[in-house]
Amino acid sequence: GQAVLQVENLRCHFRTRKGLVKAVDGVSFSVGRGEILGVVGESGCGKSVTSQAIMRLIGGRKNETVEGRIAFHGRDLLSLREEQMRQLRGNRLAMIFQDPMTSLNPVYTVGRQVAEVPEIHARASRRSAWDTAVAMLRQVGIPAPESRAKDYPHQFSGGMRQRAVIAMSLASQAELLIADEPTTALDVTTQAQILELMKRLRDERGLSIILITHDLGVVAETCDTVAVMYAGMIVEQAPVGELFAGPRHPYTQGLLSSIPKPGSRERLVPIEGQPPSLLDLPSGCRFASRCPYVMDKCGGRIPPLFEAGPGHRSACWLEEERR
Ligand code: SF4
Ligand code: MG
Repeated sequence: GQAVLQVENLRCHFRTRKGLVKAVDGVSFSVGRGEILGVVGESGCGKSVTSQAIMRLIGGRKNETVEGRIAFHGRDLLSLREEQMRQLRGNRLAMIFQDPMTSLNPVYTVGRQVAEVPEIHARASRRSAWDTAVAMLRQVGIPAPESRAKDYPHQFSGGMRQRAVIAMSLASQAELLIADEPTTALDVTTQAQILELMKRLRDERGLSIILITHDLGVVAETCDTVAVMYAGMIVEQAPVGELFAGPRHPYTQGLLSSIPKPGSRERLVPIEGQPPSLLDLPSGCRFASRCPYVMDKCGGRIPPLFEAGPGHRSACWLEEERR
């Protein structure tokens, strides 16, 4: 479908006492309407920083540089004034985090917090905002929402809190939801329910979602497309089925062989070694120190994303060898 969000050559660099940290270093991707894009990678690969840059939660301080283009419906978010950005945030653009308490205020009832969204952004009356809140809590599967709306966040379970935060983004008419490890803290059953909810919102409301996770099982279960990040860059992009059926990048292959296949008793083979320091990146392929296929040319230039199939790209010099 048409792109709701288009990120082009995003760079997020931080000046620190130890040197320049290139947390995100030339990332491009797009998300269509009603598409769930999974962004996967180990911790520190730049997936959270990418999402914070989209929400413009970083870039404001003197030591932070955010460059490139982040177009939301064609409008570059990086060129908006803070005031314009604030109107989009919590309205057409929403974000949820691993800890739902990041977005909930412990001193107000859940219903009041959901109702605040249409009150502020749609200038709804108190009464109709409350009705909207109850309807949204019902839509995300909170039982007896009329009475649960009067509860405080601490009276909700972790899964119910995450549902409440999703209800806030629904109340806001969000078109794009960025979910950073939204189910990591939840038990398996609750996790599955939240992922089901996200798929339902994609299907019923055409909601676009960027789902950030380190969990390939979550990606397989939920996403339409995937971007695999490594050391601040995207190393592979593909439709989800393609990625699991035929991973092209050695890093992705390593990730996939380090997760168990359902019902399999095979020993897992984790990828040996560590990603390079973002303070001191190698000149060529950033995966070279861990790659079983490393060649001379890998130390030279960073491999670009080569076309590996329809919608499938891999940033590896092996693609050039295959031609
Ligand atoms: Fe391995 Fe070279 Fe491909 Fe990097 S470019 S993943 S080092 S083969
Ligand atoms: Mg993170």
